[in-house]
Amino acid sequence: MDSLIEQAHRVYLEHFPSTVTFERAVFFSWGCTIGDCAFCYMSNQPKDKPPRETKRSTASILAEFILAKQLGWDIGFFTGGIGVLTPLEIGTMLRLITEITGEKIWLSVGPLPRILLEKYLPYIKGIVGSTETINPLLHKKVCPSKPLAPYERMFEAASELGLARAMTFIVGMGETHEDFELLKAFISKYGISKIHVYGLIPTKGTIFEHTPPPTAEEQAWWIAQLRIAFPNLDIQCGIWDDRADRIGLLLKAGANSLSKFQALKYFGTSIAHDIENEARNAGRGFKGTLTQLPETDWDALVQRLSADERLQLEIGQKLGIYLKSMKRAQNKKF
Ligand code: SF4
Repeated sequence: MDSLIEQAHRVYLEHFPSTVTFERAVFFSWGCTIGDCAFCYMSNQPKDKPPRETKRSTASILAEFILAKQLGWDIGFFTGGIGVLTPLEIGTMLRLITEITGEKIWLSVGPLPRILLEKYLPYIKGIVGSTETINPLLHKKVCPSKPLAPYERMFEAASELGLARAMTFIVGMGETHEDFELLKAFISKYGISKIHVYGLIPTKGTIFEHTPPPTAEEQAWWIAQLRIAFPNLDIQCGIWDDRADRIGLLLKAGANSLSKFQALKYFGTSIAHDIENEARNAGRGFKGTLTQLPETDWDALVQRLSADERLQLEIGQKLGIYLKSMKRAQNKKF
């Protein structure tokens, strides 16, 4: 294992700078019309609530994008439950979001047909397929209503349109090391340039509730193999609030960025400091911040948006709520 990590580390340093970014995935809902993926917290929401009613408010989503931008976080993707937003709603959100980010973003809203990819082209640099695992039997078990084939068609259409392609992979659901060859072939076939390598989060109420999360070594094994096989691949690794101690190993294995940490909830807390320190101790400069609130004219940022007056007011109020709770959390110890 040590020599695998060393080799991956060398490959990383030959191709990327010694920095690490924090990536924020911004969610627009907490429900999903698919709702039966075995690992997903959205599969465990109260059934009496129609998925379309699990939408976050537009103001709160946009406030989160403003915060992310000011804190120097990259946007992992804009995402949420499949079938919750209409294409028109997604298009409208993307327009406002890219006014804030100043650049195109990654989108992950399920397998999209070519016609919708074309519609979103002005706002997206790439699409993310939430593929989760490539082993066909395991995939059937963990995503019974979310087959891979529509994602494969989306990747092909995205390629024709010049869009970048990314995928997700969750370590710890029952895959074996033999599956690496399948993953490698999939990445090559669809020209995947970015992968999100998560570690299973055992979620209450799912079949994985009592499954231990993958060890740091196991998650690092997949990242290192990917780094060596695809030296230029952008590899994001998912951590969790109690997994700061694995960051050094995951970065050494060749990850480019970190995600999944609940950065607004724990902003400025001892966990956020631990994460930044772990990254620095691994020899990586931390881009952006999980701990320092910048001096910013937040009102001016909101007023710059093309949103109508009412929406601007709501975004300002949401920002105020977020900032207040972030200030309150500062320096809390866990
Ligand atoms: S499709 Fe995505 S959001 Fe919906 S249940 Fe499955 S993993 Fe969760």
